[in-house]
Amino acid sequence: MISDLVIVGGGASGFMGAITAIKSGLRSVLILEGSSKVLEKVRISGGGRCNLTNSCWDISDLVNNYPRGEKQLIGLFNRFSTSEAFDWFQKKGLSLKVENDGRVFPSSDSSSDVIKCLTDVAKKSGVKVFTNSHVKQININKEGFKLLVKGSKEYAAKNILICTGGHPSGRKLAKSLGHSIIQPVPSLFSLASSENSLKTCSGITLDVQVKLKVEKKFYAEKGSILITHKGFSGPVILRLSAFTARVLHANKYTAELRINWLCMSESEARSKLNLYKLENGKKLVLNSKPFNNLPRRLWKALLNSLNIDSKLKWADISKKHNESLIKCLTMKSYLINSRGPFGEEFVTAGGVSLKEINFKTMESKICKGLFFAGEILDIDGITGGFNFQHCWTSGWVAGNSMV
Ligand SMILES: Cc1cc2nc3c(=O)[nH]c(=O)nc-3n(C[C@H](O)[C@H](O)[C@H](O)COP(=O)(O)OP(=O)(O)OC[C@H]3O[C@@H](n4cnc5c(N)ncnc54)[C@H](O)[C@@H]3O)c2cc1C
Repeated sequence: MISDLVIVGGGASGFMGAITAIKSGLRSVLILEGSSKVLEKVRISGGGRCNLTNSCWDISDLVNNYPRGEKQLIGLFNRFSTSEAFDWFQKKGLSLKVENDGRVFPSSDSSSDVIKCLTDVAKKSGVKVFTNSHVKQININKEGFKLLVKGSKEYAAKNILICTGGHPSGRKLAKSLGHSIIQPVPSLFSLASSENSLKTCSGITLDVQVKLKVEKKFYAEKGSILITHKGFSGPVILRLSAFTARVLHANKYTAELRINWLCMSESEARSKLNLYKLENGKKLVLNSKPFNNLPRRLWKALLNSLNIDSKLKWADISKKHNESLIKCLTMKSYLINSRGPFGEEFVTAGGVSLKEINFKTMESKICKGLFFAGEILDIDGITGGFNFQHCWTSGWVAGNSMV
């Protein structure tokens, strides 16, 4: 029997694609999942809570969270965006909550409820799901497609939707059907530095301005940094890693990270420090600091890196030390020499080239009846629910385009 649609990959985009396709009028929709469980990434996502979207409702702001795919997503989000995804899940009975930073989670804080919602709706709609069905080859014939599954089972389909995420086998299938692949590289990672002047500061989080210099180009961001025992992490670093994923990979993860610990200009810092010196001349530099937001441990570590004597008083600080302190607070430079561990989230930058996709339908421009959705495409977002949002959106658009 030939199915109207066979979906390769039972992840977030595959389920959204299947449910939408059947709702839009397709009669026989099948998901072939290679592993023994569907939606496994949903289960582990968000530390087991699943950050499934974000309350960034404005499309022009929303697309700024995608280092790759920003342009193509404008049209897609105009059809199914964060607010539509939010309503979609609530209408299917999944209660959601928005956290202060805009991330959206199930009210229960359990990713199992997202899985239950998707699998229940799929089942009720009549989507068939086959696990342990790794698709190893897809052939084109007169009726459509023939899919060969490990263990020599075969399926026939009029349309296929490839939703294999960052898994290499999906890219191999896409390539065999004529698509070009943008080299996959990791995104959303911390930065490691062998610099050990901050080793006593592990665990500190702080709002900073950062500039990453890779080769001769600077990439600037502002936000919360986390000092780790191996380097730097936190939202600002993960965002920076996403926007520089490709260039950092090309440079073997060597770069220079400049941190403005005060988020103020050199001249502002100088005036503040000079005023403080006048009023606190008798106090020890080590024990009193002009900048309240700076944690004491970090202040000490920065003074240490400048070899400032622990007995030095503010009144006795030399002009030279004064200037190097200002530089250190507003433009301290750290050498990055490798990629650190991933945060809670990890995605692949790269995948099926966007030039070969019709973004009105998610259909291949090369092969009729072949559709793509989710992480297999050269689209990825930063942390905050943006990666799942792109899966819901592309899955929804693909599912609605096949009747
Ligand atoms: C630890 C972790 C936490 C994350 N947390 C979040 C978060 O909180 N919020 C967020 O927005 N994003 C998060 N992400 C990213 C998010 O999980 C992915 O962007 C998303 O799962 C991609 O969905 P997908 O449907 O494209 O692919 P996937 O979810 O990867 O699904 C692809 C499926 O295809 C199957 N498959 C692969 N090859 C074949 C084949 N040849 N035949 C049959 N089946 C095949 C795989 O087994 C898999 O089940 C996280 C990622 C990780 C790793």
